[in-house]
Amino acid sequence: MAHLLELQGITQKYGRGDRRFTAVDNVNLAIDEGEFVALLGPSGCGKSTLLRIITGLNQPAEGQVLYEGQPLRGVNPHATIVFQTFALFPWLTVQQNVEVALKARGIPPSLRTVRAIDLLDMVGLDGFETAFPRELSGGMRQKVGFARAMAVEPELLCLDEAFSALDVLSAESLRGELLELWMSGSIPTKAILMVTHNIEEAVFMADRVIVMDKQPGRIVADRAIDLPHPRQRKDPRFLEVLDRVYATLAGQTQPEHIELGAAPGEAGVTRALPFVSIGELSGLLEFLDEMPNDRTDVYRLEQELNLGTDPVLQLTEAAELLGFATIAKGDITLTSLGETFAEASILARKEIFATRIRRLPTIKWLLAMLKAADKGRLDRDVVRLALELEFSPEDAARQVEIAIQWGRYAELLAYDDSTETLYQETAVSVPA
Ligand code: ADP
Repeated sequence: MAHLLELQGITQKYGRGDRRFTAVDNVNLAIDEGEFVALLGPSGCGKSTLLRIITGLNQPAEGQVLYEGQPLRGVNPHATIVFQTFALFPWLTVQQNVEVALKARGIPPSLRTVRAIDLLDMVGLDGFETAFPRELSGGMRQKVGFARAMAVEPELLCLDEAFSALDVLSAESLRGELLELWMSGSIPTKAILMVTHNIEEAVFMADRVIVMDKQPGRIVADRAIDLPHPRQRKDPRFLEVLDRVYATLAGQTQPEHIELGAAPGEAGVTRALPFVSIGELSGLLEFLDEMPNDRTDVYRLEQELNLGTDPVLQLTEAAELLGFATIAKGDITLTSLGETFAEASILARKEIFATRIRRLPTIKWLLAMLKAADKGRLDRDVVRLALELEFSPEDAARQVEIAIQWGRYAELLAYDDSTETLYQETAVSVPA
C-alpha cells in the first residue's frame, strides 16, 4: 500500500547567483497512516522548509512529494499546519473564529454552529464560545487555533513549534489533550508531523523521532520511540530513550566509556568534572552560536571571553564532555545539541543540562549515594572525603563544589548552605 506521505529526493535551494545555496539536500522520508512523527534539529536545518514543501506551499528544486501515492501538485488540501502562535480574528468571538474555518470548507451554515461548539468542547474551551480572543490567555488562544485546525479535519496534521510559545502548564495540558484526541481516534487525522526544538516533548509524544542536521539540511537519524502511552518522564526507560536522542544530536567524539570515565570507587580512571560555572559555559555556547559556522579557534577564546588559558581549557573540556561542542585541529565547533542549548529558554536549558550530566559517572554516583542515604541527605564533608580516595584534598573539594553547583542548576539535587547538606531534589529539606 502507498505511504500516506512520501518525500523522494527532496532538495531545496535558496538565493541567486553566487549566493545560491542548498538549504535541504536529498531528503527521503515516508510517513504512514497511524504515525506520530517528531522532527528535531538545530535552527536553519530546514525543518520549516520541509513543512512548506510537504503542505505544498512551496515547490522543491528537486525531487517530489507523493501523497497517498500520487504526486502532489499545488497546496495539499489534506494537510494543515498549526504554528507557534495562531492568528485569530480579533473582532470575531471564539466560536466565530472556528466557524470561519468551517465556512471555508463549505460546511452549510445550519451545521457550522453545532460543529464549532463540538470542536471547542473537544479542546477544553467549553463555556468560552462567546469570548473574544483578547479575553483569553495565550494557552487558550492556542486551543482555539487547534480547534480551527481540527475544523478542517486534516488527514495530516503538521505542528510547527505549536507548544513553544505557551507557559509550561498550558503547554502540558494542550499536549495531553492532543495526545488524548489522537490516541482515542476521535479525530479523522491519519498522521501527525511535529516540528519541535524540545527534545523531551518529542520523546513524550511521538512514535518516531527524525533528527536533522544543517549545512546542508539533511536527515541524520530516524528512530522509533516504542514506549507505551501515557509516558512517564521519570521512567528509566523514558530517560534512556531521551538520552539516546540527545546523544544523536550531540554527536560523539570518543567512545562514551572513555570520554566519561569511571565512577569514584570503580576500577578505571575517574574523570574530574571540569571546574566550570554554568554562567561561563552558557557564555561560551552563546558566543559560539554567534560565530560563522558555529566555530572558532580555541586560542581565540582567551581573548574573546577574557579568560586565562587554564579556565578556557576547562571550559572547552566541559563543553565537549557534555556533548555541546566538538574539538578538532585546534577548532571548537558547536554541536546541534550545543546550539539547541544556546537558543533554548531557561527551563529547556535546565532540562538539557540535567539529561547530560545525569550520564556522568561522578554525578550518577552522587545521586545514588543520596538515594541510599538516610532521609536522602548527605553532609558535604562525607562526599568530599569519599572523593579524596580518587583526588587530592584540594581537587576533591572542588569536585564537590562543581557537583553541587551543576546538580542544583539541573534540579537534580538541593543543597542547604547553612548546614552544608546535600538533599535529594524530592526530599523535604528539614533542619538537622
Ligand atoms: P529551520 O526551520 O530548521 O530553522 P528553515 O527551513 O527555516 O530551517 O531554513 C533553512 C535554511 O534556509 C536556513 O539557512 C535559512 O536561512 C534558509 N532559508 C529559509 N527560507 C529562506 C528563504 N525564503 N530565502 C532564503 N533563504 C531561506
